[in-house]
Amino acid sequence: MMNKVKDSRQTHGLPRLSPAYDPWDPIRSLHAYGRHRLTSVEMTVSNLCNMRCEHCAVGDTLVLAEPSKIPLSLMLRRLDEVEHLETISITGGEPSFSERTVREYIVPLLKYARDRGVRSQINSNVTLDYSRYDMMAPYLDVMHISFNYTTADDFHQVGFARSGHPVSRETAVRLYERMIENARRLAEAGVFVSAESMINYRTHEKIADIHRLIVEMGCKRHEVHPMYPSSFAQNLPMLSRAEMRAAIERLLDARDRSVWMLFGTLPFYACSEEEADRKLLSRLAQEPNVTVRNDPDGRNRLNVNLFTGELFVTDFADIPAFGNIADEKLEEAFERWLHHPLALSVNCHCKAASCCGPNLLVKNMYYRDVDFTRRRARL
Ligand code: SF4
Repeated sequence: MMNKVKDSRQTHGLPRLSPAYDPWDPIRSLHAYGRHRLTSVEMTVSNLCNMRCEHCAVGDTLVLAEPSKIPLSLMLRRLDEVEHLETISITGGEPSFSERTVREYIVPLLKYARDRGVRSQINSNVTLDYSRYDMMAPYLDVMHISFNYTTADDFHQVGFARSGHPVSRETAVRLYERMIENARRLAEAGVFVSAESMINYRTHEKIADIHRLIVEMGCKRHEVHPMYPSSFAQNLPMLSRAEMRAAIERLLDARDRSVWMLFGTLPFYACSEEEADRKLLSRLAQEPNVTVRNDPDGRNRLNVNLFTGELFVTDFADIPAFGNIADEKLEEAFERWLHHPLALSVNCHCKAASCCGPNLLVKNMYYRDVDFTRRRARL
């Protein structure tokens, strides 16, 4: 049976998620506290997935059978200790791959967040049975899905590229249709469904068509990130910054202006020497219903691996673990991270541009030799 979830504005006494209120953006806590604070915790609850997308940022960690998890009570205690916690995110793999994980970890974590007035997000491919998502829906703020396709054939090509065995077109079509149907049902039930597309060599020319399908599914937000060469994506062709700018312009021209568009991990900064970068940023700042989120990873957020208790700056595998929740509080580990040379290398802030520096992967890819701590926004 479908759960009916009312608008969070009325049901939970919390502000509605909107372009004016995005508690995942670290610029909010930076402005509120005058320094980076831990306000967000991401938890990896599954290394299992029914898909093997060619761009998967955690593809190398996916397995066919996974070990047991750390006790939920330890995770809840560590969350309880985070004084300024505002958001949690639950990710995988496909977090709902195991129904037991949904019952024993995901739903209790979502209930905890709801009781504490903390906002929650699940990153899911929503291709499994609707009942799993229905179990989470009453307690969930954002159902975050990936959507990079214009046809079931796109989905077949992209979604199983790293399977290691052939997946039939019929199977892929079935999953594609179920994904669309599940997203629609969740949206109709009142869940805030946010679809993320990545701008990459496959999508950049058809990003406006992808946007149209996302709007048709009833999604409240379209989230757009460039693809970066992490994990499975490491050897895929990369776009130039000019191609990326062109794709964003195309999308801005064609988009449905009633739908919130959130851009993240963009390789453009207000301190750029390139006028085209600054022009695009100023267009993004002026467009109604469009936001550019600063990167939460390591700024206001840590990732906890629920199998090992290890702490990461992101769920991507490129930066090694720097602690474990068995040994220390999340805030203590976070303070240590803020003094890490990698964190310091991107620790800049230009208030007038509402910018708090580049993502580490982005810096590594496009700005290896740039010292952002010596740059200022050119407004
Ligand atoms: S905060 Fe850093 S990246 Fe952003 S505009 Fe300023 S110097 Fe550039």
